[in-house]
Amino acid sequence: MKLTLNHFNSLISLVNHFNSDKRCRDFITEQRWGGNVVCPFCGCTHTYACSNGDNQFKCADCKKRFSCLVGTIFHNTKLPLQKWFMAMYLISSHKKGIPSHQLSRDLDVTQKTAWFILQKVRTLFAQYDTPALEGEIELDEMYLGGRETNKHQSKKTEGTQGRSTKTKTPIFGMVQRDGLVHAIKVTDTKASTLLPIIKQFCAENSHFFTDELSSYICLDGAGMKHSVIEHGKKEFSKDGITTNSIEGFWGHFKRMVFGTYHFVSKDYLQRYIDEAVYRYNTRKASESTRFADMFCKSIGIVSYTDVKVVKLVA
Ligand SMILES: [Zn+2]
Repeated sequence: MKLTLNHFNSLISLVNHFNSDKRCRDFITEQRWGGNVVCPFCGCTHTYACSNGDNQFKCADCKKRFSCLVGTIFHNTKLPLQKWFMAMYLISSHKKGIPSHQLSRDLDVTQKTAWFILQKVRTLFAQYDTPALEGEIELDEMYLGGRETNKHQSKKTEGTQGRSTKTKTPIFGMVQRDGLVHAIKVTDTKASTLLPIIKQFCAENSHFFTDELSSYICLDGAGMKHSVIEHGKKEFSKDGITTNSIEGFWGHFKRMVFGTYHFVSKDYLQRYIDEAVYRYNTRKASESTRFADMFCKSIGIVSYTDVKVVKLVA
């Protein structure tokens, strides 16, 4: 029986099918190349399967040997592929994320290995293929970082009283109402920083909704349609002017960071943002669809026609 990518609607169906490393390799080979293995080094389609039957190939042109894992996130792994597949399933199906100690128990690996798997899988969430947002778009910023009051005296930042944004990292978010979200770590929230990002990710004729942060005045200057809700006056929704959708995403992001991971280092912050964005944008997709999408990303297929993120939230 030929399996489709959408076949796996439960962890048990996945584990039952991928009961050996060979089956995983066969599936990767089939999904990656169908019947026509292409040399990843020179692009030549004239390749031979090596006689060991272990999904090893040789290129007739450049003579290089390669395995079905070259160029995937599984390249050079010592971990059985079944565990990788299970990890991708578990990570994609836990709506608020899965901590490394939990994943380590589920897969029977060390916590260090589980942490490594999580970081590697998180790279699949990168927002490379995000389509442009359009229509009604809410923009907002949030800050993440340690409270000054909890820090040792020697680590405190001068001139802060515990609530300063000086020691926190700003994150800028954009959400299309009833659509996709996009979020990015930024150096600051000045107009000169935000405007190029807005122009990169949003269609020009969109209608923007923001709070009264002065940086957003740049939208008016650029001739864009812009409505402001004055949070300072305790207004949160007025005549359809609101930033409730992006606030909803921040809530989701904070629950993941504080509820599941507890601590997020600055160095890896963008990966956690990417993870939250991916979960939000695929929140209406089934487990099997989400796994199919992750599997495609893991072997380097960016866009899998049936699981385009756009379709998932439609
Ligand atoms: Zn070649």
